[in-house]
Amino acid sequence: MKIGFIGLGNMGGPMAANLAAAGHDVTGFDMADVSIEGVSNAATVEEAANGADVVITMLPNGAIMHAVADQILPVMQAGAALVDSSTSDVDNTRAVAAIAEKAGIHFLDAPVSGGIGGASGGTLTFMVGGTQEGFDKVAPLFDVMGQKAVLCGEAGAGQSAKVCNNMILAGTMIVTCEAFALADKLGLDRQKMFDVVSTSSGQSWSMNTYCPAPGVGPKSPADNDYTPGFAAELMLKDLRLSQQAAETADADTPVGKLATALYEQFVEQEDGEGKDFSAMLPRFEKRSRS
Ligand code: NAD
Repeated sequence: MKIGFIGLGNMGGPMAANLAAAGHDVTGFDMADVSIEGVSNAATVEEAANGADVVITMLPNGAIMHAVADQILPVMQAGAALVDSSTSDVDNTRAVAAIAEKAGIHFLDAPVSGGIGGASGGTLTFMVGGTQEGFDKVAPLFDVMGQKAVLCGEAGAGQSAKVCNNMILAGTMIVTCEAFALADKLGLDRQKMFDVVSTSSGQSWSMNTYCPAPGVGPKSPADNDYTPGFAAELMLKDLRLSQQAAETADADTPVGKLATALYEQFVEQEDGEGKDFSAMLPRFEKRSRS
């Protein structure tokens, strides 16, 4: 397929490289001057999109994605597909989907889970919103870049799934970290705590797979001085999107709201920026009840 790839950063770079390595004709564009093996560089965003069967965006947020979509939709051919794999807000996503539909272009929101490791290894999970026809057209590309793609519903459903997933992730990570800090103060050995909880009803991905305690459980960013992994500021971005979506949908999300406030404090006032989101554990360790 002829593919335009816009946004060749930490995630987009390796995703584009994997598509090129699988034999697709990939033309990339990024505002920063980057070159990716196997990917030809376009001089403008329009040039990357012109004549493409599928254009993929992997950009910092929904507002930037919307601005880029406004530039490229007029040069894309009817029947082509625009796939936004950025984590974008639901409102911008639905707005772009409506413009694309009028132009006869399939729009899919297809945010990912799996991080930079998943992008490099081609093992991402795609949560997709859009039509079955659009999904079927792009499915072979999801197969190259990921291990699983789920069509969640119409446009916006992929981003909705993403914010719900990450709101759960933030909640379980925070409570796992505070439970370790409580266990320390109760004199409970961290390894014993892991052995019990990881096989009991308190288990979660945060405890079992991404344990925030160094030296306990499988290898995780905690074992590398909390170098991300998944940075706290990216978690804060996703939590803010969850609260924006909850506001629009009039949903009561008290734990999500508190998690957003905690990550905001951690990132903006407590030196959490640039650390993995599991560095909430050393944060709690230093605190007392008052
Ligand atoms: P990044 O900052 O490394 O990459 C974004 C790229 O977009 C940059 O290279 C930037 O130069 C480029 N860019 C910005 N504005 C542009 C424009 N107008 N035209 C062309 N290029 C432009 O970010 P990333 O880590 O690759 O994340 C990309 C998206 O994926 C974000 O929405 C993020 O929330 C999401 N995401 C990231 C991770 C992760 O672990 N990094 C995991 C899941 C989802």
